[in-house]
Amino acid sequence: MDKDVSGTFSALLQEDRRFPPPPQFAEQANVRDAGVYEEARRDPEGYWAGQAKQVDWFTPYQRVLEWNAPWAKWFVGGTLNAAYNCVDRHLKTWRRNKAAIIWEGEPGEQRVLTYRDLYREVNQAALALRALGVGKGDTVAIYLPMIPEAVVAMLACARLGAPHTVVFGGFSPESLRERINDAKCKVLITADAGYRRGNLVALKANADAALNGETPTLRHVLVVQRVGAKANVTMQAGRDVWWHDAVAPHAGKEIAPEPVDAEHPLYILYTSGTTGRPKGLVHTTGGYLVGTMTTTRAIFDLKDEDVYWCTADVGWVTGHSYIVYGPLANGVTQVMYEGAPDWPDKDRFWALIAKYGITILYTAPTSIRTFMRWGAAYPQRHDLSSLRLLGTVGEPINPEAWIWYRDHIGGGRCPVVDTWWQTETGMIMISPLPGLTTTRPGSATFPFPGVDADILDEQGKPVPLGSGGYLVIKRPWPAMMRSIWGDPDRYVSQYWSKYPGIYLTGDGARRDEDGYFWLLGRVDDVLNVSAHRIGTMELESALVSHPAVAEAAVIGITHEIKGQAPAAFVTLRGDVEPSEALKKELSDHVAKKIGGIARPEKVFFTAELPKTRSAKIMRRLLRDIAEGRVVGDTTTLTDPTVLADIKARYAQEEA
Ligand code: ATP
Ligand code: MG
Repeated sequence: MDKDVSGTFSALLQEDRRFPPPPQFAEQANVRDAGVYEEARRDPEGYWAGQAKQVDWFTPYQRVLEWNAPWAKWFVGGTLNAAYNCVDRHLKTWRRNKAAIIWEGEPGEQRVLTYRDLYREVNQAALALRALGVGKGDTVAIYLPMIPEAVVAMLACARLGAPHTVVFGGFSPESLRERINDAKCKVLITADAGYRRGNLVALKANADAALNGETPTLRHVLVVQRVGAKANVTMQAGRDVWWHDAVAPHAGKEIAPEPVDAEHPLYILYTSGTTGRPKGLVHTTGGYLVGTMTTTRAIFDLKDEDVYWCTADVGWVTGHSYIVYGPLANGVTQVMYEGAPDWPDKDRFWALIAKYGITILYTAPTSIRTFMRWGAAYPQRHDLSSLRLLGTVGEPINPEAWIWYRDHIGGGRCPVVDTWWQTETGMIMISPLPGLTTTRPGSATFPFPGVDADILDEQGKPVPLGSGGYLVIKRPWPAMMRSIWGDPDRYVSQYWSKYPGIYLTGDGARRDEDGYFWLLGRVDDVLNVSAHRIGTMELESALVSHPAVAEAAVIGITHEIKGQAPAAFVTLRGDVEPSEALKKELSDHVAKKIGGIARPEKVFFTAELPKTRSAKIMRRLLRDIAEGRVVGDTTTLTDPTVLADIKARYAQEEA
């Protein structure tokens, strides 16, 4: 495919509504002085050095940044410990008995861990891991449901200086095995099972299948008892140990946090696999903590009084940066929920918000579109007036969903922060600052202070305002990945070779006349219709703005005359009947919204779209089907039957 996106991403659907920060919000915001942008621009290293004061260092660093592109070292010479920063230091303050985690299981049980509780549990778990032979530099795999032990396990590893690799609990045995072997893990921490929509997820059985003599580095499996007898697990003598048995001998005991170098690896995390085979990215300790702490405080406006809830799973980078490290280092009180949003009914999220008085909600556009499809009656059942800030991450959010979120969840009063970032970036990179930025639905607005984002054409020249191109980051930032685990060459070629010394994000973006950034989707997904570049985002937004449409994915199919033409895969809202007339109506709707050039050549109705396990639309698989190719890497696909169904329908319609 022609990858030249420099010319003309077509004008994005003009969404003219603008929302200045509500005055009462702006008055109390953590960041109130717009001078921070200029200050950070003039002296980025000085800016980050200022932020580094929020972190407790055992040994002070000597240099803020050592940059031998594309290799970065931040806070050179400093030593610290991430678990110490997230837990121990709060014990020296009034926060010692503050709730750190308010957990609710899917069946409804509740557990509260204060910072002191967390301290005790992390120490015991670290001692248990040490007894199993885990020391500084050993890697540990974590394959757990959303239970407090997931956070405890991550922090226990960090305490020992043992990098963790968390594998989302929805992954198959094969995916788990690949990650254990790639990261050379010594111990696996899992659970007997987890709950999902009232059913059991057989984690231990999956782990057994994953290991099956094919994970040479793995010595022990630590098993949390989440479900009990119903899970019916077999324990392999000599290899498997119950978590409660392993921690019991260490009750009340402590282990000093291992001082690690600022550049010591904190974790390895595999990307979602939306665009291809997942990459194991390495994040280190000092810069990562500085970046996640700073962004949590500034973007979520986090205060001690808040009740914060990030709905992501700890298996994704969002869970690492904005459930564990950023929020806990800030001394947050947060809600953690184990299960599905539609269990026992489609109002579970809203019930949780009302029950715990949640003030900050951070979720994904795909969830918001699902809630829209279910209808506003569900949130209306509950009092959501405690909310004061809403955030989104994971995909571009179409203006329709943004407005729905603001109106129906935020009651029209909460600022919405659309946060753009990646597993690679470790921290939020483009986002409003809620007390300063006038937001526009569908735009992630502006780069965070100290982040030098730009949009380049094929030749590496910044595109003029109003046009689109490759989104890049021109200067290192503290939470950036340091490499791909075991594959430094791929790190260089994938991210740093198109424009040497500049980080290539792989996403397309456009900046409007006012300098706002609009994410347009993956560069690989961009369509080239009669020499016009059209981002998938704008086509999908146009479709979703039609009242019949719940969700849409658009791909380019080969067209004799135009080169490519858009083909739309559309999921209808609950009560809408599919028909040929509706297909025509949707095509006309897109043509009216964007222009005749964007008119979908074909519209397919489908019950679901193929998504990654992090719930992102995998357009590359739709392209494979449309082009009659063998479908590519599907290991991160949520539900293979969705793909089979689309394939069958596609073949039927083409016949
Ligand atoms: P892979 O790299 O394996 O294809 P992935 O890119 O989906 O997987 P993540 O690192 O979880 O893995 O996702 C980052 C990507 O998600 C970004 O590159 C971008 O395409 C998309 N994204 C995240 N947040 C936003 C946002 N607020 N607006 C637009 N896109 C976003
Ligand atoms: Mg990616």
